[in-house]
Amino acid sequence: MNHCISGQSPSQGATEARTESENAEVALQNIVEGFQRFRTEVFPQQKEFYRALASAQRPRAMFITCADSRIIPELITQSSPGDLFVTRNVGNVVPPYGQINGGVSTAIEYAVMALGVHHIIVCGHSDCGAMKAVMDPPSMESMPTVKAWLRHAEVARTVVEQNRCSCAGRDTLEVLTEENVVAQLDHLRTHPSVAARLASGQLFIHGWVYSIETAEIKAYDAEQGRFRPLDSEGSIPMATPRPRFHPR
Ligand code: ZN
Repeated sequence: MNHCISGQSPSQGATEARTESENAEVALQNIVEGFQRFRTEVFPQQKEFYRALASAQRPRAMFITCADSRIIPELITQSSPGDLFVTRNVGNVVPPYGQINGGVSTAIEYAVMALGVHHIIVCGHSDCGAMKAVMDPPSMESMPTVKAWLRHAEVARTVVEQNRCSCAGRDTLEVLTEENVVAQLDHLRTHPSVAARLASGQLFIHGWVYSIETAEIKAYDAEQGRFRPLDSEGSIPMATPRPRFHPR
């Protein structure tokens, strides 16, 4: 039985991107009705599956992506409950180790040490509001928390600004979004739990950028130093550095 949310169609009233804004009451009503449909129609058909999941999780990967409502990791990877250990925040940021003892760092350590995931995917996306804000710092003046958080993405802006010539002809937002993923992969490697397992070849890291409009994913190929399409042809692009130790 397929438990993934592939069959999910947009909720009633959202068959196409909503053009009119619904009021607060209708918004909540839609969410609650969705839950009721899940509980009465979907859940009973998959009871056994949920029973098996009830006492343990063994996710295939950790997935770090943006909080943007248009990105649904389980949908775009056709995953089921229990498959992905997901952490989301504005700008798919990974703070470097030691700076903030916050939610992302905690989730990384837990995923690697307690759950033993073999893959961590950092996934940015097209039309990202956070990346637009990084390109336009004055837009963040009224949002001091957003501004402080997105300092972790500043490195990407500097890289793009100082290397403008080599990305001529490409959209700055697109290049910045890719560079932000590369920067967050660098931050990810500063976490001791990640560094130790990368060094022994037990953990693999991936940097993706998902296009909302075309459903394409470009993945960072560390060896080639560029993003390549994640398609069925050829090898899967990897951002993982070479291991230096054998696992004990
Ligand atoms: Zn975003």
